[in-house]
Amino acid sequence: MVFVTRFAPSPTGYLHKGHAFSALTAWSAAQAVGGRFLLRIEDTDFTRCRPEYEAAVMEDLAWLGLDWEQPVRRQSEHRAEYDEALQRLRDMGVLYRCFRTRKELMALAGVAPHADDPNDPHAFSYGPHSAAEEAERLAHGEAFAWRLSLGAARDRLGDLHALTWIEERVRPGIHHAEPERLGDMVVGRKDIGAGYIIAAVLDDALQGVTHVIRGEDLIEVTSVQRVLQALLDLPTPVYRHHPLLLGPDGKRYAKRDKSVTLGEIRASGVTPDALRAELGF
Ligand code: GLU
Repeated sequence: MVFVTRFAPSPTGYLHKGHAFSALTAWSAAQAVGGRFLLRIEDTDFTRCRPEYEAAVMEDLAWLGLDWEQPVRRQSEHRAEYDEALQRLRDMGVLYRCFRTRKELMALAGVAPHADDPNDPHAFSYGPHSAAEEAERLAHGEAFAWRLSLGAARDRLGDLHALTWIEERVRPGIHHAEPERLGDMVVGRKDIGAGYIIAAVLDDALQGVTHVIRGEDLIEVTSVQRVLQALLDLPTPVYRHHPLLLGPDGKRYAKRDKSVTLGEIRASGVTPDALRAELGF
């Protein structure tokens, strides 16, 4: 079997050492078995992605010594394909519009809002609004998210825990989907249409990705993506979620913390060999 893996950054900021580690992990895995390595630009959210970040992604990865197949798939150029899948899910009755703001959701959950934490630990599954409320909020042009109803998905697919995937890195073995940990996840929005979570499963299938190699921070998302694969009749790749690289303060690198970027590291005179060695490659 041909081994196909990918690095799929969202160009919402500059890459840091954590990204370098992730990209090198995937690229080396492909190299080790004579497999294929793809770069995919996950820029469905045009409110956050910028062309200069994408240009920097490619510059940084090339500087690190990575190479990838052409053409690079840029998700913003395939929006219609993802929206078609969103529509299929709507037709199945497994999506609902959620107009609740983050603040409203936190209040419903009875927790204090942490406005700056995009990795919200709370699962929101409050279900659809009443038909009357939905019609009114729609008429007012209010923003909404499309959420995947786990209840409706269960009605269609049966026990969601019966869905499995093979994990080869953290807690290797057969994993059972536990989508309830993330609740009724947002899979699209009024403004952007289908979101990354749908685009990624479609593209992994379309591009024949056999191994999804990515950070452990996405392992819970895998459960939800597994449900989407089942709903959309897509194959399930093998997953390798690698532990996250920790900074000197013991915390993971993150774009939002303004971690030192690869561009800054490069400008400071560090060589690619030195950085690769530091990262264990
Ligand atoms: N685009 C996602 C991110 O930058 C990664 C998605 C994936 O590797 O599946 O966080």
